[in-house]
Amino acid sequence: MDYRDSAEEADYRAALRTWLQTNIPEPADTDDARTQQRIDWHRKLYEGGYLGQSWPAEWGGKGLSPTMDAILNEENGNTDAPMLPPTLGYIGRALGMFGTDAQRRQFIPASLSGEIQWCQGFSEPGAGSDLAAISTRAVRDGDEWVVNGHKMWTSFGQWANWCLLLARTNPDVPKHKGISAFLLPMDTPGLELRPIVLANGEPETSEVFYDNVRIPAENMLGQEGDGWKIAMTTVAYERGPSDIGAISAYRKKLTELEALAKDTGRDQDTQVRRELARAYVRGEVVRLTALEQLSSRATGKPVGEEGSIAKLLYTESAQELAHLAMALRGPDIITGRDTETARDYFQTRPISVYGGSSQIQRNIIASRLLGMPAQ
Ligand SMILES: Cc1cc2nc3c(=O)[nH]c(=O)nc-3n(C[C@H](O)[C@H](O)[C@H](O)COP(=O)(O)OP(=O)(O)OC[C@H]3O[C@@H](n4cnc5c(N)ncnc54)[C@H](O)[C@@H]3O)c2cc1C
Repeated sequence: MDYRDSAEEADYRAALRTWLQTNIPEPADTDDARTQQRIDWHRKLYEGGYLGQSWPAEWGGKGLSPTMDAILNEENGNTDAPMLPPTLGYIGRALGMFGTDAQRRQFIPASLSGEIQWCQGFSEPGAGSDLAAISTRAVRDGDEWVVNGHKMWTSFGQWANWCLLLARTNPDVPKHKGISAFLLPMDTPGLELRPIVLANGEPETSEVFYDNVRIPAENMLGQEGDGWKIAMTTVAYERGPSDIGAISAYRKKLTELEALAKDTGRDQDTQVRRELARAYVRGEVVRLTALEQLSSRATGKPVGEEGSIAKLLYTESAQELAHLAMALRGPDIITGRDTETARDYFQTRPISVYGGSSQIQRNIIASRLLGMPAQ
């Protein structure tokens, strides 16, 4: 694939850049304000006509190439704009691939417009890497399913109005065959959410308790027992190349660090020069890996396990860059003049856990992509 823009892509990129420059809000300074701003930004991008470029027209999208979405992600990440809604890219895909026509009509346009904000209720205290071990139960009662259990790490749970939930509907079959997926409004009676404060001091994620929560049977996504397939599709899109925006944000941070090193004379320090060069090379490797995967997606190939390579490379690069930023900005962090760098640093720590830990990504690469024998 030729990674340079076609004439149509170049026009789109130019118009988008102008639009971004005139619409980006002032940065917010609290977690609540940042999240609200992210939701407002989602709506604004939709109103500007920028969301859903690669989504099929019958689902409310524009039916264009995934490259158009990548351009939006990339240009957005190059600026100080709020990040794009992360769950839209992967929960939206699950809805498109597994939803009934009625569900697609109900959920996809509202997800694109920002009216619906999703969270992902997969992990539990005893089931993270071994997701098939979930014990949250859903039992059929007439036209409803009744859910009882405890979910962990439901990110954006306190701001989301809908959840893609996994629950065990059949305990008598092999564990990954007895799971189903549900679409659940977050204000359903019996659901109790407790925020979890992360190391950066912000309640970005949550644990959620389900006590006789009733879900109408038509809110099952896919067929009974399809939960594992739906979960694996969702996480493949979550890990995949859609995150080109995170890569452009990485490059922006690296450029700022290079300027800082020059301004302070630290660029004369061999160790600093070496680390900046290493960060540059790593960033390019991640970018080209994501572009290669994107080009395969542009030919219509669904996202598969190769997303684990991009996720692992990005995780390590982002954590190393955050570490370098802490080293270069150290005195300002200690005196409290710089609060952003430490927040960024703590935000990069859980990347090696969420969406599947780095050890699990390595297992997937070894066994499923390289065909190595399981240990
Ligand atoms: C900030 C944050 C946000 C999250 N957001 C969400 C969300 O929105 N929705 C959601 O459902 N979940 C979410 N998660 C959960 C995340 O997906 C899990 O934490 C992750 O899959 C790891 O599971 P665990 O925490 O149970 O750790 P465990 O599975 O207990 O793993 C503990 C350690 O053992 C290692 N390990 C486990 N099994 C193996 C193995 N087979 N081989 C090698 N090493 C192994 C792991 O790599 C890890 O280092 C989030 C987590 C965090 C920290």
